[in-house]
Amino acid sequence: MNLLAMDAEQPAANIPPPAGAAAPGAPRRPVVMSVRGLRAGYAAGAQALQGVDLEIRERTVTAIIGPSGCGKSTLIRCLNRMHEVIPGAWCEGDVRLGGRDVLQLDPVVLRREVGMVFQRPNPFPTMSVFQNVASGLVLNGERDRAKIAERVEESLRRAALWDEVKDKLDKPGTGLSGGQQQRLCIARALAVEPRVLLMDEPCSALDPLATARIEELLLQIKDQLTIVIVTHNMQQAARVSEYTVFMLMGELVEYGETQAIFTQPSDKRTEDYITGRFG
Ligand code: ADP
Repeated sequence: MNLLAMDAEQPAANIPPPAGAAAPGAPRRPVVMSVRGLRAGYAAGAQALQGVDLEIRERTVTAIIGPSGCGKSTLIRCLNRMHEVIPGAWCEGDVRLGGRDVLQLDPVVLRREVGMVFQRPNPFPTMSVFQNVASGLVLNGERDRAKIAERVEESLRRAALWDEVKDKLDKPGTGLSGGQQQRLCIARALAVEPRVLLMDEPCSALDPLATARIEELLLQIKDQLTIVIVTHNMQQAARVSEYTVFMLMGELVEYGETQAIFTQPSDKRTEDYITGRFG
């Protein structure tokens, strides 16, 4: 039974086979981040993660799907310790980046290696396009102007934005369209050369055309770094990811190759969600 062809919420014809699928028999990439027994919650309210185990493989795209409130954002925010900036938020368990204990790392160093792009594009409002992309480099102590300019151009090119902004580098970043602003935020994140890029529903505020450009961009950069993307859009997960995680009520229900999750899920709850029986 092909569940890709049974999605009630999103018409079957629109769901392509996973574009990022690894070739059958291809060797698995090494694990770059691992999560063991991760539990997390907030000061007021129920526990958001109930003990999650997960391995994220280097230079792959992993999509995290599941109904609203199941803990997707909490999970990715634990990966670069953005979760702990919320007053009263707590987490316990083991999260590793290349074998290092994330909870023992300096959060600033960690976030340089594990960057993040949020739901709503958030360029720094007082900064130009150029300054937005250069900001992380400057913060890291880079003072060589030629080097900064070179890296800004390279990052904007990687984010498929250079041609659109090369003549307005000194204009405010907030003056760009929504889709351009999100690509600017991606360029800003790429400029410090993170090993992992976390994306929390990066297209949810964008129109279909701007969304398509971001997805194209993900497919272009996915061989260069590891991407973990939260999405409520199953078609998007199918289009861009090699691996998919399905979560429900703070629990990781199923994790595997996207192709397998969408065509032969092993858990009935995954099947019910993917076929649109709830969600
Ligand atoms: P998702 O990303 O899947 O929509 P979240 O990780 O945002 O889920 O939320 C998981 C649970 O944690 C939900 O019950 C949500 O209400 C709760 N939660 C999220 N953010 C906060 C917060 N800042 N304070 C209290 N509870 C929160």
